[in-house]
Amino acid sequence: MAEKILPFRKEKVLEAIKKYPTPFHIYDERAIRQNARHFLKAFGILEGFKQFFAVKATPNPYILKIMQQEGFGLDCSSFSELVMAERMGFEGEEIMFSSNDTPAEDFVKAKELGAIINLDDISHIEFLEKAAELPNLICFRYNPGPARKGNPIIGKPEEAKYGLTREQMIEAYKITKAKGVKRFGMHTMIVSNELNEDYFIETAKMMFELAVEVYKKTGIKMEFINLGGGIGIAQKPEEEPVSYDRIARGVKKAYEEIIVKNKLHPTRIFTECGRVITGPYGYLITKVRHLKHIYRDYVGTDASMANFMRPALYGAYHHITVLGKENAPKNHVYDVTGSLCENNDKFAINRNLPEIIPGDILIIHDTGAHGFAMGFNYNGKLRSAELLLRSDGSITRIRRAENVEDYFATLDFASAKKFK
Ligand SMILES: *Cc1c(COP(=O)(O)O)cnc(C)c1O
Repeated sequence: MAEKILPFRKEKVLEAIKKYPTPFHIYDERAIRQNARHFLKAFGILEGFKQFFAVKATPNPYILKIMQQEGFGLDCSSFSELVMAERMGFEGEEIMFSSNDTPAEDFVKAKELGAIINLDDISHIEFLEKAAELPNLICFRYNPGPARKGNPIIGKPEEAKYGLTREQMIEAYKITKAKGVKRFGMHTMIVSNELNEDYFIETAKMMFELAVEVYKKTGIKMEFINLGGGIGIAQKPEEEPVSYDRIARGVKKAYEEIIVKNKLHPTRIFTECGRVITGPYGYLITKVRHLKHIYRDYVGTDASMANFMRPALYGAYHHITVLGKENAPKNHVYDVTGSLCENNDKFAINRNLPEIIPGDILIIHDTGAHGFAMGFNYNGKLRSAELLLRSDGSITRIRRAENVEDYFATLDFASAKKFK
């Protein structure tokens, strides 16, 4: 069981709220660092292993700094994320660029930074050549199609827009080898928020077998195999967190049975996890504004799906703690909502919770990845602040909240007024 315990006492949250108005996301630095070390220790049994943190999960410079200090590279998916990596001092092969439907300028930037470029389609070989010339090292993303089941967030691989087919993979390596590319990698990512450890081991086997096939058909030895992200987190109290050790041991066994046996050792193993690195260590703190009793009982908070959209977008369960009522009986049933004019703006539906009154503080769990980052401005909602609970117990604001002028910054009221 994943205990849904809080890294802070009630007084600490109240102290933060006095200084920084709700809503805000707060991340637990100590837990993120401990988790990152645990991750590297487990996967460290794989020679040459490297983890690239998926920037899109939590694109904040302080978080990226922590990743850098813990020895992670970055996985970027867009121009802005590449610039963010650059500004934080990441360079060269510390950066993996895994994008899709990619603009030319993004390839140019990735090439300029010397990032590892991961191509999502066979047609991108020519596209990249035109935009920026081919790099020395190239990687392709594999989509196994009906050979694998996939999972609810990404969907079935055969219905997912990502990657190359098996035949295209072989072809793509042949083409790029003929064009003078010298170093090669291989990538896949076919599940998201997956808790089944065996799935990742199966994926590793699939990739190792493909590497053998590519070798036999093209003579190319993979320098690395990137198993992508997608490791899930235990969001429901009854779920078990994944065991990094179990995945790493399974991958190592498959490596020995397939890569070593076929004399393709050494091939480095990469991952580009986001969610499992920071997800469980972030919390959205929001204050209850209104209680409303109609056909159901509604708790109206000062946050909305503009601050955190996973429950509305995926129907994801995110645990909610009512601050100071952790041990009170959960004898009320509520829909916990935001203030958008949008009926799926709900953090929880028919959730058993203790009795709630206006002014109560709700803590929404597991918002440390794909949380703030997925925010938006619909209904003129402003993005919140992000705070970091430091290892020494102090609190640092790592992003200020937006104000109305930020929201208007791209508009020109003066011209609009004169417009006829
Ligand atoms: C989103 C994404 C990741 C990170 O996924 P998590 O589920 O956060 O681990 C890694 N690689 C690619 C290509 C992605 O699109």
